Order: sequence, then C-alpha cells, then structure tokens
Amino acid sequence: MSSGPLKRGLPFLAALFLFACKPPEESVQKAIIGAVLIDGTGGPPLSNSVVIVAGSRIRAIGSRANMPIPAGVEKINGAGKFLVPGLIDLHVHLGTRAGPAFKAADYTRERIEENLNTYLYFGVTSVRSMGTDRPAAFDVRNAERTGHLLTARLFTAGRGFTAPGGHPSQEVGDVVIQTNSPEEARREVDTLAREKVDAIKIWVDDLGGKAPKIKPAVIDAVLDQARKYRIPVTAHIYSLADTQHLVQAGAAGFLHMIQDTEDIDPAFIARLRDLRMVFTPTLVRQELDWLFAEHPELLDDPDVARSVDADIVAAARQSAHSAHPSPAARQDFERAKRNTRTLAAGGVLIGLGSDGGSALDFPGLMTHREVELLVEAGLSPMEAIVAGTRSGGFALQKGDELGTLEPGRRADLMLLSANPLEDVRNLRKIDQLMLDGEWVDRPALKLK
Ligand SMILES: [Zn+2]
Repeated sequence: MSSGPLKRGLPFLAALFLFACKPPEESVQKAIIGAVLIDGTGGPPLSNSVVIVAGSRIRAIGSRANMPIPAGVEKINGAGKFLVPGLIDLHVHLGTRAGPAFKAADYTRERIEENLNTYLYFGVTSVRSMGTDRPAAFDVRNAERTGHLLTARLFTAGRGFTAPGGHPSQEVGDVVIQTNSPEEARREVDTLAREKVDAIKIWVDDLGGKAPKIKPAVIDAVLDQARKYRIPVTAHIYSLADTQHLVQAGAAGFLHMIQDTEDIDPAFIARLRDLRMVFTPTLVRQELDWLFAEHPELLDDPDVARSVDADIVAAARQSAHSAHPSPAARQDFERAKRNTRTLAAGGVLIGLGSDGGSALDFPGLMTHREVELLVEAGLSPMEAIVAGTRSGGFALQKGDELGTLEPGRRADLMLLSANPLEDVRNLRKIDQLMLDGEWVDRPALKLK
C-alpha cells in the first residue's frame, strides 16, 4: 500500500477523524500460525500455514517453513485447527423474527442489527438481503460502511419487484414493488439506484398458478434500466422458461433452482457457465416444510435457544406436528437438488443462500443447513465451501475484497476446531472468528 504520502498530506483533524473508529491500517498485525488453510478458492488446503493480518486486510500468506513471522505481532496458535473465510449468505430477509408469519412491526433497526449479529455469530460475515428492505436497512448499512457498527456486512437489494398481488406480497405486504407498468418499473429502478442498492431483486413465480406473475415487459424494463446503472439483477425463479428469458434479458443470477423440469439443454448450461451466472439454490427453504417434523431434535440445539425467540421455537415445535408436505413439494425438492448437481457439474457457479428470516428459517443456522444440503445434492465439501465463500464474493461484485483468504483481501475468517472437508457441519465448530481484522467476541453479540 502506498497511502503514506496521502495520509501525511491530510490536515491533522481530518486524519484524526478518519482513524477515530479503527486503528490505522498496518499498525496492528496478527499472525495465525500452524492452521490448515482452506482459502475459499477451491485449491488444495495448505497445512502448517502462516496468515499475516495487518489492520483489516490479509497482508501475506505462506507456509511456516518459508514465511518469516514479523517481530511484535500478535501470534495466534492455529495448530490442529482449520482456517476458512467467513461465509457469505446471498439470500436473506432482514428485520424479521423468523416467525411463522412476517410482521411489519418487527422491521426495526434494532431487529436488523440483531439479525446481522446472529449471522455473524454463526460465521456468516456477509449477507445479501433480497428485496424486502425499508429505509432502516440503509441506515444500518451506512453505519457499517462509516465504521460505526461492527457486525455482518450488509448488502441490500432494497425493495424488489413483483406483479400486483404477486408473490411474496401475500406474506410481506407493500414493501415489495407491485407493478404491471414498465414505465413505473423504470422509475423505481431510478429510485433504487439513488439509494445505491447493491443488487436488484425480481420475483418471477406464480406459485403454480395461485398468484399473479410479473409481466415479461416489466422484467425487461427492470433489466434494461438496471443495466444503465450497472446494478446486478437477481431473480427468484421456478421454471426453466423463465430462467431462459431472464438470461436473455441480462440477469446476473438466480435464487432458488429450476424445478419444473430436469431436461435442461447442455448448451444452455454452458451459457450459464460462460456468463458466470450465480445460482443460489436455497434448498433449505423447501426442506423447511418438513425439516422439523422429521428432525425435531434440531430444535434442541443450544444455539437455537441462544439465537431464536422462545415463542418462535414453540411455533416451530407446533408446526412439526402439523407438517404434511405434499408429494409434489417433495418432488420439487428432489428435482431442485438434482438440477443443482447438474448445473454444478456443468461448471455453473453455485452460491450459498438460506432465505433466512422467512418462515421458521432461522438466520445463520439455516445457512449452515443449506451448506449440508449442497453436499447432499452432490457438491463436494470443498465445492460447498467455495459456494459459500468465493462465489459469494463474486456475486456481490466484491471478489477482490471478500470471499477468499488471499493477500489484499479483507480479513473475514474463521478458525475451526475440526476439519470441514471431512464434514461440512464442522463449519459450525468456530473456535475464533475475525471480521475486518478484528476478533469477534461471539458470546457478547446481542442476537435477539
Ligand atoms: Zn427470499
């Protein structure tokens, strides 16, 4: 970094202001020594590694045999441990208690911060909130980006687009933009651009004919207008035909997975790969229809009590008794898993997303369940880790800062006490957690 002359040139007070919230870059150095490094790129793990963190960034990485450790650094013994990037959840909804129903009254700045703390607690260092945000989320994002709030990094799509009365307005109400007018859609994109959203969300799903569906002309208008501002558009999809239309119109990625068919043309898969589309299958959202009925013991996990309100846990127990998933829902789920495997095998980028915050979809916990489901779908543990790290950074257009542990990247990382390549559930065995170069006091985080 060659910022020295610039810093020296700043008036004293301005410099003081700049550094009021964090110590100056480079002044605080930490060395994590001896861990097995799984860096998020998908490359082979590096045993007996040394990772030097300076300020908020990774300064250098090497093996202990040939990497000198600078004098005066804080040394962290990583022997017997596994170092991985913090996870990135590309599909969350903030400002909810993850109860059976979405309540507008829950959408407060305090609740958003608690949600973000909960993701952070579980090692999810960045989240992308997809289409249900009001101004409070922008206040939180601003507090983070000005260094006044240290919690999981928030990226937001603001308000997403659907048809009048379309999904998910039946659940979330008027926070979503409901329009049949391409002109109105363009004006709303202009507004989102002024708010500096990190993404744009479109719901393209008629819930099997039960809800109105967004018009193709509105989809095209959103994509065309978003292109002017270079904002990536990500769509909630269900069908292959809609996915094809959205790719043609310039979408950047997808939430959920194609479920109406498994007959996907290999040429289309190659196109998705070449365009570097990121698919975020969000399989756990589907599995939640029966997950607690089949695995009620999951609700006994101490981290459930720690992070979820007691009345919501009670509602989840109740729902476990009344859950009767339809055979069609099961078939959709299995098809989504097989298509996830097919796309991954074809080289399409897979991302990690939980839909956390939606009904009984517990923030963070379900991010980890989704990692397990990606492995059940056929990804290797290494591929699932890459989905939750490098692909996330790429989808956020922050691949040069987030998602991998490489020199120059932000130091968002977890030191695990067990090997996640043997069992991805070990991603929850967090011994130490670092965000932006600072150790996180996990037990002190206010989660609810
Ligand atoms: Zn969602």
